[in-house]
Amino acid sequence: MTITDSEVKRKYLEAGSIGRRALEFGKTLVTAGTLLLDVAEQIESFIRDEGAVPSFPVNLSINNEAAHYSPSPGDTRKFSTGDVVKIDVGASVDGYLSDNAATVEVGEQGKHSDLIDATREALNAAVKKVRPGVQIRTIGQEIGRVITSYGFRPIRNLGGHGIKRNDLHSEIFIPNYDDGNGETLRSDMVIAIEPFASTGIGMIHNGPGGHIYILSGTKIRQDEPLYRNFNTVPFAQRWVAKIMPDYEQYLSRMIRAKEVSEFPVLKEHRGSYISQAEHTIMILSDEVIVTTA
Ligand code: MN
Ligand code: MN
Repeated sequence: MTITDSEVKRKYLEAGSIGRRALEFGKTLVTAGTLLLDVAEQIESFIRDEGAVPSFPVNLSINNEAAHYSPSPGDTRKFSTGDVVKIDVGASVDGYLSDNAATVEVGEQGKHSDLIDATREALNAAVKKVRPGVQIRTIGQEIGRVITSYGFRPIRNLGGHGIKRNDLHSEIFIPNYDDGNGETLRSDMVIAIEPFASTGIGMIHNGPGGHIYILSGTKIRQDEPLYRNFNTVPFAQRWVAKIMPDYEQYLSRMIRAKEVSEFPVLKEHRGSYISQAEHTIMILSDEVIVTTA
């Protein structure tokens, strides 16, 4: 099955459209005093109401957090004025995925406008370079050039990725700087490009768990609820809570048995701020389509 198959192309485009609208909707919800939990749940409901399912739990990462925080069931965290919030969201239509992200400053005082513009512009510049045959390092170089021109650092150990059916992070890694990778982009590929800019050192480390999990073992039975519901795709603690009353004990047991892994929050040092922008891009032999534009 290739993308030139019109059904496959249609599903990628639909996933992109739903993902983009979910992100736009999410941006309107992030206000001072609002619970992260309510925002995540509303965005995911939007995706389901459109007839898709989330590609992964909505990520709401604040200030020095780059990615991989999704509210827990009963989470009490709220947005505050001045927070730099990365909203990262995607939709799956029959396993064909979209993945997009944007950064907003709560209260829009404009204190972090440059940081937010840096990744948005880096993304646009990088997208213009995408075509079959271009080296991956060229994309990274373009991202790094724009972010650096704003006086920020690209995050070196985060980046974009290939996307395949039911596989959010497949094959290639697209860096935020020129990493020397001479591999090329090809037609019939779907990729996500996601620049991250930081006021800090430009390297993230693993923080505490962010309530996002993935099946990681081999012994899980196919009739187990996690397998039936979330095979191969990342899932939220909130989603498990909705299908199992004893989700906490169940998840700890599965983690101890190494059947389930929890993603850590990816973060920079305290006091730094990070912005992110992301699009999903379909590369065909005769055209490049940003599915989330
Ligand atoms: Mn993303
Ligand atoms: Mn991504």
